[in-house]
Amino acid sequence: MENQANPFEQFKLNRQLLDAIADAGYTEPTPIQEQAIPLAMAGHDVLGIAQTGTGKTAAFVLPLLMKLKYAQGADPRALILAPTRELVMQIAKAAEELGSHTDLRIVALYGGVGPKAQIEALRQGVDILVTTPQRFLDLYAKGEIVLKHIKTMVLDEADKMLDMGFMPQIRRILEVIPTKRQNLLFSATFQEKVEKFSYEFLEFPM
Ligand code: AMP
Repeated sequence: MENQANPFEQFKLNRQLLDAIADAGYTEPTPIQEQAIPLAMAGHDVLGIAQTGTGKTAAFVLPLLMKLKYAQGADPRALILAPTRELVMQIAKAAEELGSHTDLRIVALYGGVGPKAQIEALRQGVDILVTTPQRFLDLYAKGEIVLKHIKTMVLDEADKMLDMGFMPQIRRILEVIPTKRQNLLFSATFQEKVEKFSYEFLEFPM
């Protein structure tokens, strides 16, 4: 075993990430990881069509962790939007796990609870923000989120977000975040709504 190459080494991830991948028990990348990780790491905008259970979360979290590397400043440098509180918590947990050998700070924002603890967490400093659209806009309106350092934006379960009627919130978010950034769009389906939105959101996607 010891001399066997770790298939994740093909991605040129750093040691901290390879160690976390080993801790998580992943021995081989899934198909979506094989395809999306190199493209995202090369800086492309990526459109990923993948259902839950395919390993899609790690497919965008690993390139993100690699890009950010270590804690820096107080303001978020990456924004991950997801439709539900459950999904936000799940993504944040995956990012915590895969980032456990780094000092990157992940903060999860969602509704259904008071904002106090989330505001506290933001004030401690954050590298990756994982959030539902509405709670993000609420805390942004309160002046608790500085967006000028955002360089990567991920939209997970885009089809569900559009089905749930989040388009106005997403549009509003796109108006306020820096335009020069990398975008990753993940969706279980490629229905017309998603395709249309992808033209708006992605630049020369792969
Ligand atoms: P997801 O599709 O992102 O919701 O991931 C589904 C499950 O697969 C999660 O529990 C992950 O921890 C797990 N997973 C992700 N990538 C791998 C991998 N390469 N090998 C084994 N399990 C994985």
